This record gives sequence, C-alpha cells and structure tokens, in this order.
Amino acid sequence: MNRYEAYLPLLQSSLRKLDDWRSLFGEEQLVGFDDTPHISNILDELQQRLQENYPFHHPQYAGQMLKPPHPLAWVSYAIAMTVNPNNHALDGGPPTSEMEKEVVEKLASMVGYGEHYLGHLTSGGTIANLEALFIARELHPGKAMAASPNAHYTHERMCHVLNTPFIKLPAQENGSVRWDYLNDHAEDIGTVVITMGTTGLGTVEPLAELLPRLKNAGVRIHVDAAYGGFFKLIAGELSSERHWDVLNQADSIVIDPHKHGLQPYGCGSILFKDPSVGTFFKHDSPYTYFTSNDLHLGEISLECSRAGASAAALWATLRLLPLSEDGLGAVLKSTIRAAASLYRKLSRSDKFETLQKPDLDIVGYFPVPAEQRLSAVSQLSKKLFHAGMSADPGDGFHLSLYKMSASQFTAAFPEYKADDETVTILRSVLMKRDHEIFIPKLIERLHAALDSVQNGS
Ligand SMILES: *Cc1c(COP(=O)(O)O)cnc(C)c1O
Repeated sequence: MNRYEAYLPLLQSSLRKLDDWRSLFGEEQLVGFDDTPHISNILDELQQRLQENYPFHHPQYAGQMLKPPHPLAWVSYAIAMTVNPNNHALDGGPPTSEMEKEVVEKLASMVGYGEHYLGHLTSGGTIANLEALFIARELHPGKAMAASPNAHYTHERMCHVLNTPFIKLPAQENGSVRWDYLNDHAEDIGTVVITMGTTGLGTVEPLAELLPRLKNAGVRIHVDAAYGGFFKLIAGELSSERHWDVLNQADSIVIDPHKHGLQPYGCGSILFKDPSVGTFFKHDSPYTYFTSNDLHLGEISLECSRAGASAAALWATLRLLPLSEDGLGAVLKSTIRAAASLYRKLSRSDKFETLQKPDLDIVGYFPVPAEQRLSAVSQLSKKLFHAGMSADPGDGFHLSLYKMSASQFTAAFPEYKADDETVTILRSVLMKRDHEIFIPKLIERLHAALDSVQNGS
C-alpha cells in the first residue's frame, strides 16, 4: 500500500460523515454521477497520462522546487473540496475562512509580527508579491522598486503591471550584489525587495545589514520569502540566523505554503506589518453578499475567488506539524542536512566542483571537464543532466540546470577560460525529507553517469 492509499479509509469515513450532514437538507439528484464504466476509463487514461511526469515524489528527483503534498494536506483538500467553499467572503465559506485566519495568525507569529498585522492566503507567491508591491506603490507613488539580480523574475514583471519603475541592482564581477547602490539612489527608491531564499541557489539576502540604513532613508522593505520563509523555524541552525532574527522588521513578507509548507499548489501568503494598509483595497460590488461586519478576506485581497480547500489543507497540516522547531522545523532540518551532505561529498570529489556553500537546501555544482573552459563545463553539465533523466527509472536522477554569467563563474574559478558569455551548471533542490538518506546513492549515480558520459564521448 502506498502512502496515499493508507489515507483512503480516513478519507472515506470523513466523506461519509460529511454526506450525513449533506443529507440533512433532503435527497439530492446525483445527475451525471452514474456513468461509472465511462468514468473508470477516463480515470484510467488520466493516471496513464500522469505517468509521463518526472518522479517528483522520489528523492532521485533533485531538480526543481517540486514535491507532492503531505498526504494529510491532500486528503483534507479533497474533503473540503467536495463542499467547495470560496474564501473570498465569510459567506462563501465560514469555516474555511476561520481556518484561514487561524493559519495566517500562526504564520504572523512565526515571523514575529505582533498582534496587529494584516494577512491572508493567496493562490501563490506571485500574486502575494504583486499585492505587496501594489501597497508599496500606493505608499510611495512615483518611486522605484529595487531588487537584486537574483530576485524572482516576476517582480520586474509585476512592476510593469503596476506601471512602476524597476531597478535591478548591479552586481560585481564576482556576482555579489552591489547593495551599496541603494545608498546612492535612496531618494529614487520607494521599496526594496529582499529575497530570503533565492529561487536560484537559495541565497538568504542580508536583511540585517540592510535594515538600519533603509529604515533611516524611509525606504519600504518587502521580504520575498516565498521559498525560504519556513526556515525561520530553524534559524538557529543556519549561518543566516541574524537575518531571520530581524524578519519582523520587514514591512511585508511573502511565504508560500505550497513550496516548503507541504501543500498542493494554490497556496501562497502575504503578511503586512501595518494593518492599516487594508484601506488601499477598494471594495464596491453590486453583488456583495457580506452578511456580517467581520473581516471578509476578499476585502483585503486582490483576488476574488480562492479555494477554501487550500486553507483547510494548510490548517490540518499545521495541526499535525505545527510551526515549531520540532514540527515542520524537523522536516526543514533534514533538507539542510541533505544539502550540506551533498555539498560536502561533491567538494571532496575530484570529479566535481561546488559553488558557494548552501545557505539553505539548494546546491550549485558542475562536473569537471577535460578542458578548463566554460563551454566544456556547460556541455558536460547538460550531458549529465540528460543522462540522469534517460536512465532506467530505478537508477535515474533528475537535476536542474542553472545559467550564470562568465564573470561570476571565473571569479570563483579563475583557471577556467571564458570562451562563452554564460555558463550552465547543475543545481539540486533537496526539499524532500528523504533526500538526506538518499545523498550517498545520488553521489554514486552522479559519478557512474559521469564516467559513462566521459568515456562514451
Ligand atoms: C517560487 C517563488 C516565487 C513565485 O511564487 P509562485 O508561488 O510560484 O507564484 C516568488 N519568489 C520566490 C523567491 C520564489 O521562490
């Protein structure tokens, strides 16, 4: 029995109890629910098509930020979805709206916001960041938003949507971000986006160092912790601890439960330190159905309809794995250990070189080619990437590719000839709990595949 199947009796019993509630309202006509042979064929076709996916569930998948949700999140989502509440308004789903407020309170307390804050779930990190940038623009009209070159690409896109100038901070030759640029241009910049856990290599940008000067200059600070936010739970274990310690001084924070919160897609979140920004969300609708004066989540969000099931799934998951060091924190600790272990083992191997020591659970590395030039690094990295994907399912591995500038690469590896403007290396996101125990196998498979790729060419 697989881990999802084990939950089926629980799902069934919850659905039956919900059906009892449903039948209190009288018999329903189950129109369209009766064509079982046809449905069974459709589902069979569906599961076959799903088998064309990469093995996101397995630790051999060490590529992008992908993993299946916790089975409890899945089963809670499925149960709530049969009701299909809409968290736009309390009237669209009173219980799941309450659950949303409860989980948002937990997120706010995790980041260290006090009793007064404003926040809600979103359908993802991009829309949550858009909301933060929209408020930032309202508070600093005409001023630019600035972010490092490692920020998520959607910040620039959303500045375009908001008709707001976007400044991509310059980088030094070695790739390090020129944060000092902010000092010289403080009067043009209204808001700075600081990413804690970049999507590329999981870098935690230096919030603690930047805070005092930005606050002095009256610049607004938005922390994009879509990927990294939950690492706050285990900050004591991280070299970036001091930055997490001052997270509560950010004006707004985005955290994606569908990244490291074990949730299915459709679950981001936005938190604002100052609840009064809620007044910027204009609300006037002819079909308003707000029957109470309590806060309706649709009054403080850009989106209207949102799955109440997302709130139910997160609520249930956090009951099982609370936002504590021993709860969800334990899962994150194992990802940190997995990344440290892969980094250490690759650093010791003479067949591989590693980039910076990982801040979180993402490792950048490349196989050492016969000739020390950038194009050879790119070529060999891509070959290894494809070799892992085309191996037998039981022997494979799945990595991702990461492109960087020649100057950034040669700053770290000056012995390499820059015969190209960019270089492609390998990247592994080790966000699954079982990655830690799989690392020795992954190392074995990487070396074996490299051997055959090098000898075969
Ligand atoms: C994933 C990610 C986003 C985008 O979030 P979505 O949920 O994919 O829309 C934004 N910023 C960072 C740092 C991310 O890792």
